[in-house]
Amino acid sequence: MKRITILGSTGSIGTQTLDVARWRGYQIAALGAGKNSDLLLEQINEFKPRLVACDESIVTQIKPHLPAGVKLVSGPEGLDEAAQIEADVVVAAISGSAGLRSTVAALRAGQNVALANKEAMVVAGPLVWQEARKHGASITPVDSEHSALFQCLVGESKESIASLVLTASGGPFRLEPRDLSKVSPAQALKHPNWAMGAKVTIDSSTLFNKGLEVLEAHYLFEIPLEKIEVVIHPQSLIHSLVRFKDGNLKAQIGPHDMRIPIHYALEYPERPQIPLKPLELKGSWELFEPDHNRFPCLNLAYRAGHMAGVAPCALNAADEIAVKAFMDGKIAYTDIAKVLEETLEHLEQAPLSWETLAETDRLTREHWAKKL
Ligand code: NDP
Repeated sequence: MKRITILGSTGSIGTQTLDVARWRGYQIAALGAGKNSDLLLEQINEFKPRLVACDESIVTQIKPHLPAGVKLVSGPEGLDEAAQIEADVVVAAISGSAGLRSTVAALRAGQNVALANKEAMVVAGPLVWQEARKHGASITPVDSEHSALFQCLVGESKESIASLVLTASGGPFRLEPRDLSKVSPAQALKHPNWAMGAKVTIDSSTLFNKGLEVLEAHYLFEIPLEKIEVVIHPQSLIHSLVRFKDGNLKAQIGPHDMRIPIHYALEYPERPQIPLKPLELKGSWELFEPDHNRFPCLNLAYRAGHMAGVAPCALNAADEIAVKAFMDGKIAYTDIAKVLEETLEHLEQAPLSWETLAETDRLTREHWAKKL
């Protein structure tokens, strides 16, 4: 029986991974989460992991209720320990740049990582691959678009690729309102097709999430940015496509249910039966060009990718602060793009290293936390 570890078990990806674990009867080696003590306790009692890592602030709530034989650890070091204990697959699903450290800890322990945390690849892609290769670890994508590309590329040579085509739903504001300056957090949190965590849902509405995914694809598949396209597909059934040099395209299609790409990443290269209704092949499927004027965040991500170095890290950190400020009612929706643009314009560029990344992340957050 497979033993898996889930980092970010109380989140949207984490809870859906536990659904998959119920389908397949996986054992849970370790769970890692933040502050959601009630849900984490439920998960501990149901799955009886060997080790649980949580935020320091909830240790006193969790400790008295721990079943016998479950070890509790806390803080970033605790998450590292969870990432390192022996498992067949470690699902890296902590949101934001907070997920980078434990993802790297898992790779350094030579684990097979199912990567949901796109930020790790976006801010540190070349360094993440260096660690994976040095320690014989593998990385399988969980993000539905990257899972789609990965599936389209099985059995294909890199030389045969003309481009990777990422699909985007277009989010809740694809058609209206034309003026986005008055959009509220509640409106931005209503994704038309996917139920996801708050940060990624807001990022989907600005198309910044697609920008992060462009950078994720660039680093994950080691393909130049010029060969990565984005197309709007409101039905979210074609999850992405690969265009080959011989004129053929391959697409991966499926229902919009994240448990499918999660299950694929956990079972690859097998494709066992799952208990979900098959997709009905009916209706019309549309494809459009993105509207770059209304959604400037997408091109800002391409720009950061071309700048390379610490630019994607600064852009990602600035977005985390800007999205929080928007959710807290401190800035307008359209200010998110302005924060990102200003971040790139005033960037102190540096070659990519773990030290320059940490410094850029810290300085960018400090700068915007003061200003917003
Ligand atoms: P959620 O916000 O739903 O969940 C985040 C998880 O990370 C929670 O378990 C949270 O713990 C934990 N967490 C956050 N910060 C910390 C921290 N500092 N220390 C420890 N744990 C922490 O996010 P999602 O599940 O939506 O997304 C997870 C990742 O997957 C993101 O990188 C996202 O971009 C990516 N992704 C998500 C998709 C989706 O459909 N949701 C699709 C594709 C990619 P707690 O709640 O207990 O505090």
